[in-house]
Amino acid sequence: MSVSTIPVGSTVSLQKLRLQGLIDALTNAGYQVIGPQIADGAVVYDELDSLEQLPLGVIDEQDGGRYRLERSNDAGYFDHVVGPHSLKRYLFPPQETLQQLHLKDGHWNVEPTPIHDKPVAVIGARSCDLHAVAIQDRVFLEGPYVDPGYRVRRERLFVVSVQCRRAAATCFCHSMKTGPRASRGFDLSLTELDDSFVIEVGSDQGGQILASVEGWKASSAAIVDQAKEQSVQLERTMKQRADADPAAGTSRPRQLDTHDVHDLLLNNLDHPRWEQVAERCLACANCTMVCPTCFCSSVTEVADLTGEHVRRERTWASCFTAEHSLLNSGVVRNSTKSRYRQWLTHKLATWIDQYDTSGCVGCGRCITWCPVGIDLTEEVAAIRETAS
Ligand code: SF4
Ligand code: SF4
Repeated sequence: MSVSTIPVGSTVSLQKLRLQGLIDALTNAGYQVIGPQIADGAVVYDELDSLEQLPLGVIDEQDGGRYRLERSNDAGYFDHVVGPHSLKRYLFPPQETLQQLHLKDGHWNVEPTPIHDKPVAVIGARSCDLHAVAIQDRVFLEGPYVDPGYRVRRERLFVVSVQCRRAAATCFCHSMKTGPRASRGFDLSLTELDDSFVIEVGSDQGGQILASVEGWKASSAAIVDQAKEQSVQLERTMKQRADADPAAGTSRPRQLDTHDVHDLLLNNLDHPRWEQVAERCLACANCTMVCPTCFCSSVTEVADLTGEHVRRERTWASCFTAEHSLLNSGVVRNSTKSRYRQWLTHKLATWIDQYDTSGCVGCGRCITWCPVGIDLTEEVAAIRETAS
């Protein structure tokens, strides 16, 4: 079918091998295409040229402090769940030069660093990650200060989301109302079926790119229903699994009771559980690095040997480090207990005061990538059980 665009809200089908056409169309449109692939034993985002780089036939088993890839005969291209990377690194890079300063005639001239990176198209984002981007938009774009680099990258970002058809034991998007079905925030959304993808158009740009991909055809109502049913079934399964086994244990499906969690945490700042979790916490900051919504950073000035040229560099930082709370009177949060409490109460309570949304989307990354398996759903449940 030859048209210049496919209207927003339409759903089309594409044979699986034709997905290469989408990668090519995005590349030809000037995007750096990013997609999931295996590196160092994990599914991470990296530059994607070919369908063959996708982790076909691979699933991830995740639990507290545990991540393993396994082969599965039934698995398609996208049956892994979320890995350590998220969209955060493409909008708010781990390291970025914000400004350059040059000393001339006794005066410092400040120049913002232009964004030279190509626009990015990410294939494979999940519903929880789209919600995480919406949360970071509030932080970087919708407050009193707009972050110029984030704004440029965000305006140019093209997102091809994937509807999850399996969940890891660490996923609790159903509790946070952020998934598993992606309903907005994408340009195109893929649902993987046995031999084809069902693709929903979410933006004009998405419709134009998809129209240029050879081989798409209008989906029948039955196929659209089948694609939607996969998400409905997954959500049902996640809820049933969590209800069936609410107790802590190996590979326990997670859920988080969000009822009144803001007041629960802030009314229990002296609960003994904070001390207990601090005995296990290494203050390594892994949880904040993998979290798709954490946005703390620090800025350092790096001078050359002449002292006349300075780069102002921003790098990701973490509330788990001592220097993060260093004020002129000293470190404010000088115990692991105070840092873990700061992180969790910010995520689930004071974030709501600041941004009118939870800071957690239930992706489970902080549980999987914590080297000692600390699990925020378990911590909240423990405080709730014995709250004052
Ligand atoms: S909760 Fe886990 S990942 Fe986070 S700082 Fe503590 S040990 Fe590291
Ligand atoms: S706090 Fe943990 S589960 Fe929540 S969004 Fe961050 S990494 Fe995901």
